[in-house]
Amino acid sequence: MTYDVAVIGAGVFGVWTAYQLNRTGASVLLLDAYGPGNSRASSGGESRIMRLGYGPDEIYTRSAQRSLQLWQELFAQHEQTASLFQQTGVLWLARDQDPYCEATLQTLRNVGARCEQLDHAQLSARFPQLSFDGVAWGILEPDAGVLMARRAVQAVALRARANGVDYLEGAIVSPVIDRNVRTVSGRTIEARHLVFACGPWLPKLFPDLLGELIHVTRQEVFFLGVPPGDDLFKPPRLPTWIDFNDLVYALPNVDGRGFKIAIDAHGPEFDPDTGERIVSNELKRAVREYVARRVPLLADAPVTESRVCQYENTSNGDFLIDRHPGLENVWLVGGGSGHGFKHGPAVGEYAAALILGNGPVEPRFSLASKERIQERKVY
Ligand SMILES: Cc1cc2nc3c(=O)[nH]c(=O)nc-3n(C[C@H](O)[C@H](O)[C@H](O)COP(=O)(O)OP(=O)(O)OC[C@H]3O[C@@H](n4cnc5c(N)ncnc54)[C@H](O)[C@@H]3O)c2cc1C
Repeated sequence: MTYDVAVIGAGVFGVWTAYQLNRTGASVLLLDAYGPGNSRASSGGESRIMRLGYGPDEIYTRSAQRSLQLWQELFAQHEQTASLFQQTGVLWLARDQDPYCEATLQTLRNVGARCEQLDHAQLSARFPQLSFDGVAWGILEPDAGVLMARRAVQAVALRARANGVDYLEGAIVSPVIDRNVRTVSGRTIEARHLVFACGPWLPKLFPDLLGELIHVTRQEVFFLGVPPGDDLFKPPRLPTWIDFNDLVYALPNVDGRGFKIAIDAHGPEFDPDTGERIVSNELKRAVREYVARRVPLLADAPVTESRVCQYENTSNGDFLIDRHPGLENVWLVGGGSGHGFKHGPAVGEYAAALILGNGPVEPRFSLASKERIQERKVY
C-alpha cells in the first residue's frame, strides 16, 4: 500500500503530526525504531513542564496556549488519560533587573493568559518551602503545569491508531540519501510524503544537511525523595518553578516520583543510541549545592531516581519544520531544543498543514533560519 504520508519517529512531534494528518483524511503510517515514548527518546521522560511564558516570544506563548487546549481535549476523551496533565501552576523566579521575566509577564498579559505578579514578601508567605534569596519577584501561571510525558506520547499514539493510523515498529536505515527509504529489516516504505520527526537522531539520518545545525547534548535529571506523608512538596502547595537566571527548573512531587530538579545548561555532546544513561557526580554535586540554597528542607534528601536524556538544539532554539532542500516530499520536523514537548499538538497542526500545502509558513521554523553551531557549551 502507498500511504499519503509516512511519519518516521513516534516522539511527541511525530505522534501529533500523524494524529493531525489523519484528522485531515490522509492515510498515515507511523513508524518508530524503539517505540513511542521509549527511554532513549527525548520525549521518553516521566514529566515535562507545560508553561505559557516565553519572554518576548509571543509565537511560542500562543503555540503553548493552543497546545494546552489540544492536550486537554485529548486527555478528556478517556478516564485513564485524565491525569496526564497536572495543573500544578508554574512559578517564575525573577531578579531585580530581569528583562526576560518582565517580557514574560507582558506577553502573558498581551495574550490574555491568567498570571499573577508576586513580590518577595508574597512569595515567601505563599511558598515557605523555598528560600527566595536573591529573588526579587515572581510570576505565577495558575493554568500551567506538568505533562506526564512518556505516557502522554503513548496515549496520542494509541488515539491515532484507533483513528486509523497504521503503526510499524522498525528503524529506517540511516543516512537517508534519497527518497527510497527502507527499514533495517528490509521493508520499503511506500508513501507520497515522508516526515522525519526523529528528534536527536536527525543529524545521524541527514549528516550532511543537519550535522552542524542540530547539536545533541547530554542532560541530567534528578528526583529527590520527600519526607513521608508530606504534602509540602506536592501540588497545590508547591507549583512547578523555573529559575532561568540560575539555569534551574524543578517540579513538585507528582505521581509519587519525588521532587524533580534539573540544570538547564547544555551538557556535552551525546549519542542517543549508544550513550550510557548514568548521571555524573559533577551534576549531582551541582544540584545538591543549589538545593541546599533554594530548598533547604531537602538539602539531605536522597536521590530516589535519575535520568539522562538529551536536547536536540538548533542555533537559536527555534524548531525546524521544513521541507528537505534536496529531496522533494521529504519533511524535517524537530529541533525541540529542550522546550519542545509542550508544543507537540501545535507542531503537529503546523506540520500537517505545511505538508498538505494549505498552511501559513513561519520563517522561524525554516531550515534557512538555522545557523551552524560552532560554540560547544559544557557545564
Ligand atoms: C531532560 C529534558 C527535559 C525537558 N524538559 C522539557 C519541558 O519541561 N517542557 C518541554 O516542553 N520540553 C522539554 N524538553 C524537550 C522535549 O522533551 C523535546 O523537545 C521533545 O520531546 C522532542 O520530541 P521529538 O518528537 O522531536 O523527539 P523524540 O522524542 O526523541 O522522538 C524521536 C523518535 O524518533 C525515533 N527514531 C529515531 N531514529 C529513527 C529511525 N532511524 N527510524 C525510526 N525511528 C527513529 C526514536 O526512537 C524516537 O522515538 C525536555 C527534554 C529533556 C531531554
